[in-house]
Amino acid sequence: MKYIEPASLSEALEILSADDEARCLAGGATLVAMLNADLVEPSTLIGLRRIDELAGITVSGDHIRVGAMTTHTQIAADDRLSGNAAVVRDAAGQIAHPAVRNMGTIGGAVCHADPNADFPGALVAADAVLEAVGSSGARQIPAGEFFLDYLETSLEEDEILSAVLVPVEPADARGRHLKFSRTHGDYATISVSLVLVVDGDACSYARVAVGSAGPAPIHLDEADSLLTGSALTPEVIRQAGRKLMEAADPVDDVRGSAEYRRMIIPGLLQRAVDEALP
Ligand SMILES: Cc1cc2nc3c(=O)[nH]c(=O)nc-3n(C[C@H](O)[C@H](O)[C@H](O)COP(=O)(O)OP(=O)(O)OC[C@H]3O[C@@H](n4cnc5c(N)ncnc54)[C@H](O)[C@@H]3O)c2cc1C
Repeated sequence: MKYIEPASLSEALEILSADDEARCLAGGATLVAMLNADLVEPSTLIGLRRIDELAGITVSGDHIRVGAMTTHTQIAADDRLSGNAAVVRDAAGQIAHPAVRNMGTIGGAVCHADPNADFPGALVAADAVLEAVGSSGARQIPAGEFFLDYLETSLEEDEILSAVLVPVEPADARGRHLKFSRTHGDYATISVSLVLVVDGDACSYARVAVGSAGPAPIHLDEADSLLTGSALTPEVIRQAGRKLMEAADPVDDVRGSAEYRRMIIPGLLQRAVDEALP
């Protein structure tokens, strides 16, 4: 197996398009474990860490651009990720333990597309857009269309994820990513990601996504509408939670049965709302 560290995105794309068996290496938190277990055998590993275009967080106009190689630790520590983007920062700080957060990157986490991961739901709740670059140019994919199935995304084989664009608006929003897991640092049994704007008693904007509840995050316009336009009473939250519960299609595994996972959703939504409100 060859290991190459290109210095630019264009060089990395050239290597990727010339070799069907080549694979990008970001933080290596997941890919190195898969290599060690002989689950994947790439011909070439393309190390992305020297590529400046993939690094760092910048605020530009109506969005915050988070480069694909930004680590979970960097995201969790950046207070420019506030308002609508706070949910993404909140999710980053709850991923595993410091060692994994120092190693893992947002690009690697979303491209791996584990349905139990924390970023997918948070990015759908924040209505983020993923920026992919391939041999035919760059394109933007809404987070809600990026996660297709278990470990499957809409990224083409010759594309590299370059950044995640998180809208600044609504800037007065409050965000919360609430994770229910067996132990501290474990993957979620169920997670709720929430962005809310509350004026006085009434909620004027809501966007909710549920993670670990199916092959991709669950997001329903109907649940958002139920939460929007009136006070966030327990009854309204219960109705929205029930809709999300009915749409969920989780698996039975060591973290909980499908039925157990579904049952957690309404209560976790209520807690997420309580914790998001002032
Ligand atoms: C012990 C442990 C516990 C964990 N717990 C959690 C948890 O609680 N919650 C959670 O959300 N996650 C968890 N993770 C996953 C972690 O968040 C990793 O960050 C993530 O799996 C992969 O990120 P990475 O940067 O290490 O990517 P890598 O392992 O380097 O790559 C992962 C995949 O993405 C591809 N890839 C990487 N970057 C790009 C790119 N820019 N463009 C195209 N393809 C790319 C690679 O080819 C590979 O297929 C855990 C991981 C470990 C090892």
